[in-house]
Amino acid sequence: MAKEMRGRFAPSPTGQMHLGNAWTALLAWLQVRAQGGSLVLRMEDLDPDRSREESVQGLEADLHGLGLEWDEGGGLDGVYGPYAQDARRDLYEAALQRLQEQHLVYPCYCTRAELAASAPHGEDGERIYSGTCSGGVAENKLARKPSLRLEVPAEEIVFEDGVYGFVRQNLRQECGDFVVRRSDGVHAYQLAVVVDDALMGITHVLRGADLLSSTPRQLYLYRLLGYDAPSFSHVPLLVDEEGVRLSKRHGALAVAALRERGVRAEKIIGLLAWLAGLLPSLEAAKPQEIVGLFDLEKIPRQDIIVSETAWRFLSGHL
Ligand code: GLU
Repeated sequence: MAKEMRGRFAPSPTGQMHLGNAWTALLAWLQVRAQGGSLVLRMEDLDPDRSREESVQGLEADLHGLGLEWDEGGGLDGVYGPYAQDARRDLYEAALQRLQEQHLVYPCYCTRAELAASAPHGEDGERIYSGTCSGGVAENKLARKPSLRLEVPAEEIVFEDGVYGFVRQNLRQECGDFVVRRSDGVHAYQLAVVVDDALMGITHVLRGADLLSSTPRQLYLYRLLGYDAPSFSHVPLLVDEEGVRLSKRHGALAVAALRERGVRAEKIIGLLAWLAGLLPSLEAAKPQEIVGLFDLEKIPRQDIIVSETAWRFLSGHL
């Protein structure tokens, strides 16, 4: 019997849900529903400085409001709520130990300023780590608290993305040894996401294209930890008319703000489905009505501009 499809939506509860989150949530939901699978909701609240309980509640309320119900969360206490990474730190530590047993982890004492001098890579100012601490460390640095880095091979990791096709990355050249635990003891997203997706039995990951360049690192972790990797599909990002990625800074596009202005959930869903190429024209729709139209092939690969037309549709002028 074929394995049941299990997808997930894994937001970071660091602010309100905006149109960009709703976009990935809808597509992850549709992918799973189209195959009669299950959707897991997981709050990626590892960073205690940025995660907020009110954002967890807001995200849940917004998902309910949009009609994007999930099937599984709660695990720990058995309630119908999201899994929280905050409660799973022991699992990440155990995985880290398994990597340490393979002698692939070393402490890194580099400061932010020192790291900023290395070559940039990927989104969000990430840097290619030059390996400064891989061969031992100068005595005067030892007073600092180290982060822990995982040594990567000079090997090209290749995978076939459901939207972008074949993606290749040479970990040594294009990424460098990467952090698996920060100097403040917080496990890195890369490690936590792999442990969670593996232990939650996720078969299909669908998420924003900003994470496309993280996937080779995650695939390497799957291999080292002996887990089967899921299939990956990355979807383009929603951007404003200046090409700036929609984010928490676009307050007017928060799902809650739209709802307060009287925008119906079906309009938001219809707009997102149209942007994904699933609906031929801009019209209100319920998520269930477009399940049968879901097709990864229709999703464009370029960033998607949320234009004036979209605004007019949402505000009822179209
Ligand atoms: N927590 C990440 C975010 O909100 C998503 C992680 C993932 O889907 O792998 O950007």
